[in-house]
Amino acid sequence: MRKKSLFILLAIGNMLAIEAQENKQTMNPFFQAYATPFEVPPFDKIKNEHFKPAILEGIKRHEAEINTIANNPEAPTFENTILAMENAGELLSNVNVVFSNLNGANTNEELQKIAKEVSPNLAAHNDNIYLNEKLFTRVKVIWDKKESLNLNLEQAKILENLHKAFVRSGANLADADKDKLRKINAELSLTSLKYGQNILAETNKFELVIDDKKDLAGLPQELINAAEDAKTKGKEGKWVFTLSNSSVMPFLQYSSNRKLRQQIWEAYQTRGNHDDEFDNKENAVKLANLRGEKARLLGYKSHSAYVLEESMAKSPENVAKLLNDLWKPALAIAKTEAADIQKMMDKEGIKDKVKPYDWRYYTEKIRKQRFDLDEQELKPYFSLDNVRKGVFQVTEKLYGLKFKQLNDVPKYHEEVTTWEVTEADGTHVGILYMDFFPRASKRGGAWMTSYRSQKTVDGKRKAPVISIVCNFTKPTGDTPALLTFDEVTTFFHEFGHALHGLLSNVTYKSLAGTSVPRDFVELPSQIMENWAAEPEVLKMYAKHYKTGEVIPDALIQKLQKSGTFDQGFATVEYLAASFLDMDYHTQTAPIKLDANSFEKNSMKKIGLIDAIIPRYRSTYFSHIFAGGYSSGYYSYIWSGVLDTDAFEAFKTTNLFNPEKAKLFRKNVLEKGGTEDPMVLYKRFRGAEPSVEPLLRKRGLDKKEETSKKIKG
Ligand SMILES: [Zn+2]
Repeated sequence: MRKKSLFILLAIGNMLAIEAQENKQTMNPFFQAYATPFEVPPFDKIKNEHFKPAILEGIKRHEAEINTIANNPEAPTFENTILAMENAGELLSNVNVVFSNLNGANTNEELQKIAKEVSPNLAAHNDNIYLNEKLFTRVKVIWDKKESLNLNLEQAKILENLHKAFVRSGANLADADKDKLRKINAELSLTSLKYGQNILAETNKFELVIDDKKDLAGLPQELINAAEDAKTKGKEGKWVFTLSNSSVMPFLQYSSNRKLRQQIWEAYQTRGNHDDEFDNKENAVKLANLRGEKARLLGYKSHSAYVLEESMAKSPENVAKLLNDLWKPALAIAKTEAADIQKMMDKEGIKDKVKPYDWRYYTEKIRKQRFDLDEQELKPYFSLDNVRKGVFQVTEKLYGLKFKQLNDVPKYHEEVTTWEVTEADGTHVGILYMDFFPRASKRGGAWMTSYRSQKTVDGKRKAPVISIVCNFTKPTGDTPALLTFDEVTTFFHEFGHALHGLLSNVTYKSLAGTSVPRDFVELPSQIMENWAAEPEVLKMYAKHYKTGEVIPDALIQKLQKSGTFDQGFATVEYLAASFLDMDYHTQTAPIKLDANSFEKNSMKKIGLIDAIIPRYRSTYFSHIFAGGYSSGYYSYIWSGVLDTDAFEAFKTTNLFNPEKAKLFRKNVLEKGGTEDPMVLYKRFRGAEPSVEPLLRKRGLDKKEETSKKIKG
């Protein structure tokens, strides 16, 4: 009797639980189709507490779909296996994109906590798919008879990608090794998450508080205004500078107070390096070692060999060749730049060698002296609004696209703006979010991402939802956001990525937009930077924010002449970080040194001079330790070779050459990852890319002979 009633009670309890769960699901916006304009995510309804249940349910549903595919009694076919997998996991991917994007652009403690909690579930889920033997057997059956299946290009590509994903995830391993791999993957994802959270904490932790007006000497008024706005409670009458790039970099560039420059620079370059709870030294080495272990388990010599197999460069040797070819001429130029700085410091009576916190300050002075160019003189011509108009205009002239601001689309933060992108004839292309200003809730840097990738359903193009996120100078008081030229090019850059996502025109979403090798993905972005600096284009958008006056020719000339200025430094600090990345990831045995010693050795090997540090140090190199760029930081310069060579097609004919624009759109921007990048590139350009335009552009062509073609 008692037993029975307990049973009934339990049953009722279960029913109640099911009902409660159903209620929760109807309240949770992720469990319904998005009833929003253009089916964008319903940001106005999404709350922190919706993520975890939706992610866990998403995993459950995806798992069920995968099991159905794996246990299908029918013989494996392209449709019932490859296509079924391509389309599975919709809920999970919907929640995941929103979650990971918000965790980067507008995070909070709760989201960070959820990320940590679900990270092992997601890693295990991924392993459950790619280490599922039944599933792999089906994929392999199809792979082995692919020639007889009459697949089209895209079908062949998703089959190839899926088969490779299994092999590269360990599907061929023995059971014991599969278990090892699962453990490594779980630890990798947690450690990488922790590494990124540490950087954010370290960046937010430091403030340089100035209470004496004298100490603001040399700083431009907008920076002072921004520092005044940044002060928090209890700091009235003081100025606050932070480690956000839009604060620390101009401070280093303009502050004439060497001690304060040193102070903020030390804070910047020791982030994650204080032997406390946010220290990243161990995390960096641990990540590199775990990756090495995983690569060896999978039969590769190193993590780099594993990663680069999938790139345009193909091997660590090809990457090393390009980096070394560029290193010598760049270092030679950087040394002459250092000598110029030393001369100026000597003249000022500073009895010290050039230090990294001197570089930007004196470079700015030399720039002024040599080219009579003051960055502050330029900024009034680069109001964010005018630059945005310029970006839109360039895009319209090249590809005929139109942009209309939308005010009725939900967004995740009031600073975000939303746009509908259409063809000239009004056909819908996609939705674009733009989020420009720094916040404590946003990670540093600038990036593009998508909330929905493009695909084709029943012959109809399903449009993408794309976003760009930046950390530009904020407006202050009555002054609009006035960008540095560096920020202007960053805007063009991210917008280029956005176009890659927006113009995508493929069948399968796993091939859409930026789903291409890392060293090809920066071509669409970097090529856009070239237009930003052309006199003809500058005259279109660089207009004084107060008077509307078009940027004067004299100023354009100065900008042009100074184009190769300081390129030794820029190239060297970038290459140094690339070498560091490659060193961490080409190791064939576990690293025993701590991160600081490892980095020191790595820099000694290439002969980096003391006045320059790598663009990112081991403890705050989020590209490689918290993002997807491990063994891939070189990609920017690889793509740099591509973009300068590609831009020559316009530069030597007509900046808005309609035929070239069409070729670029059709063969690069629309194609996503449907074909081999070099094939796509050659179809656009008619030949393989040459290194020479890049060397010329950076003023590095004078010193040393380098080989003419990139390999890969
Ligand atoms: Zn980029």
